Amino acid sequence: ANPLFQKAKSVMKQIESHGYEAYFVGGCVRDTLLNLPIHDIDIATSARPEEVEAIFSNTIDLGKKHGTVIVVWQQETYEITTFRTEDTYSDYRHPDNVKFVRDLQEDTLRRDFTINALAFDIKGKLYDYHGGKLDLDAKVIRAVGNPMERFHEDALRIFRAIRFASQLGFEVDGETFRSMKALAKNLNQVSMERIRVEMTKFLQGDYFANSYQLLIDSRIYQHLPMLNILNIQAVLDQLSNKYQAMIDYPYVFSEAMSWALLLMELPYQSVVDKQHFLKVWTHSNQLIKDVKHITELIPVFETNQLSPQIIYHYPNDILFEVEQYMQAIGVVIQPSVQQRLDDLPIKRRNDMAVNGKDIMALLNLKKGQPIVGELLAIIEERIILRQMENTKDAIEKFVEAYVADPKK
Ligand code: ATP
Ligand code: MG
Repeated sequence: ANPLFQKAKSVMKQIESHGYEAYFVGGCVRDTLLNLPIHDIDIATSARPEEVEAIFSNTIDLGKKHGTVIVVWQQETYEITTFRTEDTYSDYRHPDNVKFVRDLQEDTLRRDFTINALAFDIKGKLYDYHGGKLDLDAKVIRAVGNPMERFHEDALRIFRAIRFASQLGFEVDGETFRSMKALAKNLNQVSMERIRVEMTKFLQGDYFANSYQLLIDSRIYQHLPMLNILNIQAVLDQLSNKYQAMIDYPYVFSEAMSWALLLMELPYQSVVDKQHFLKVWTHSNQLIKDVKHITELIPVFETNQLSPQIIYHYPNDILFEVEQYMQAIGVVIQPSVQQRLDDLPIKRRNDMAVNGKDIMALLNLKKGQPIVGELLAIIEERIILRQMENTKDAIEKFVEAYVADPKK
């Protein structure tokens, strides 16, 4: 079996040896039954959060009042959540009452879809109270219980349905889908961070091309920031075509690349608009920067305008990623990004044979002045372009000549 499970079993044994029940739940069960790789292991237990903390020496409190404790065990982390029910969500976001229960079956009632309500015990026995196995086999996403009620409790589930469709290539059950449509407007009240997490997974899904229509037909898009646009159909058709044309489709990109590819199809093309779009979607500054670099670089790669300056100034990881993207759309970059990086005379400003202090001394400056920065930038550029040797001598000569006549 999967080595992750093997390791996790000793965590379960610990819990059980203290007299509590413990089960594998959620994505790891679903993905194992589908023969897909699993990313993380979620464990459900009858032990209360404090009881879990008492069993393990290394734990992290991840919302104990909602029942979840992270256990660090043999260099792995496990999300351990106490069996619970969720009563009502008057704000559509947070359960007002988390009630801990002692029984797995009751716990599964709060789970979103039948395929996510499956559990394994330590011996690998399957617990399936909602027909999840049948739905897995039929490739159907179906709400646990009454879909109107379930989506009313937490509107994020409406989006999760299409994210799983995109990841798994499943259909959404008819009644579940009608309820999604009826309650899509409640997504307005769900926190953007939660929606963003699901949106990223939706964009990265192996079956995006088969499932993006659900975003439109369910009218979910009308309740997503800056995506309620008239030509959403054309935008997503284009994006999907782009994906499908890729070699090795399905091809999974990084988070930044996925958002960059979406953004490139949207009518927000100015730097300000793009940044605004990503900010509204609550992305981190790092991701916003990466997306900016990616959207700048793709046209440069496409028009064969890769210069030594670009190779020098853009972050290496982004350059490699765009090169990979180009490969996926069938364009091989020659020489490769790696070769071009190796060919640079210097890799960073520190590699220059002079620094700001040297230039100040040369110009008899006591304090830094703008001219120092200007000169460094010009010299750096000339070195990168191999118009100047990276030696003290060559640089000093240049500085003297420049000061005498800046136009040269
Ligand atoms: P992934 O492979 O992306 O981690 P997952 O199914 O494990 O998929 P998670 O978001 O990690 O998804 O959630 C773990 C489990 O918790 C789900 O399988 C589901 O049973 C339950 N769950 C998560 N979010 C919700 C929600 N909003 N409403 C109801 N149940 C949920
Ligand atoms: Mg998970």
